Amino acid sequence: MKRTLIASLFMIIPAFAQADSAHPHWGYEGKAGPENWGELSADFEACHSGKYQSPINIDHAMHTTLPPLDFQFNVTNESIINNGHTIQVTAQGEDIFSLDDETFQLVQYHFHVPSENHINGKSYPLEGHFVHSNNDGGLAVVAVMFDLGKENSALTTILDAIPSEQNKEEAFKQHVDLKSLYPTDRTYYRYSGSLTTPPCSEGVRWLVMKDPITLSADQLEKFKSALKHDNNRPVQPLNGRVIVD
Ligand SMILES: [Zn+2]
Repeated sequence: MKRTLIASLFMIIPAFAQADSAHPHWGYEGKAGPENWGELSADFEACHSGKYQSPINIDHAMHTTLPPLDFQFNVTNESIINNGHTIQVTAQGEDIFSLDDETFQLVQYHFHVPSENHINGKSYPLEGHFVHSNNDGGLAVVAVMFDLGKENSALTTILDAIPSEQNKEEAFKQHVDLKSLYPTDRTYYRYSGSLTTPPCSEGVRWLVMKDPITLSADQLEKFKSALKHDNNRPVQPLNGRVIVD
């Protein structure tokens, strides 16, 4: 299970556009859109039959005492790609935090327009996903919501580096102040879910920051014109899952 997850994660990193039987074409519109993902390949079955899918609408969280997440933000960027599904930065280094007595390290981060998860029924203009992996390939995704407002300079560095060609991975060594892509208040919701893209593998620990941060209208336009289409999977049923905060 864990190996499948990490394999799925890396499947979307390499620059390939061609659809073949191993990597069927999927997207956000029409026949290849989210409502049909489960039928595109036997490997994507969880997209259709999974009961713990992401994203969700976060509502009625159960109050507990979640431990603070001790992010190190000590990473360097390696590369950036517009893979037709998202804008994704591959990272290396030591952005580690501990969760459930395991250590999770940042592997890549990417963006969805508009947000995939909703908070109390609200959709945000942009959502960042910081994908962390433990030694066994188990995944924890930290989600950050962006509302319209002040420009975010860390996003500008990323936007300026987006390759003009899709599926062309380019070196990206510029420093991005990761901390400014997170809210100052790090309280969060937690739930158990899945990858929000095929193969929709479950067992992903979702940590959704409660506080949104901002990007400017101009920055949002730049994301939209690079992506050319919305890239949010619709919210999925909770099926009895408990959200905690
Ligand atoms: Zn994502």
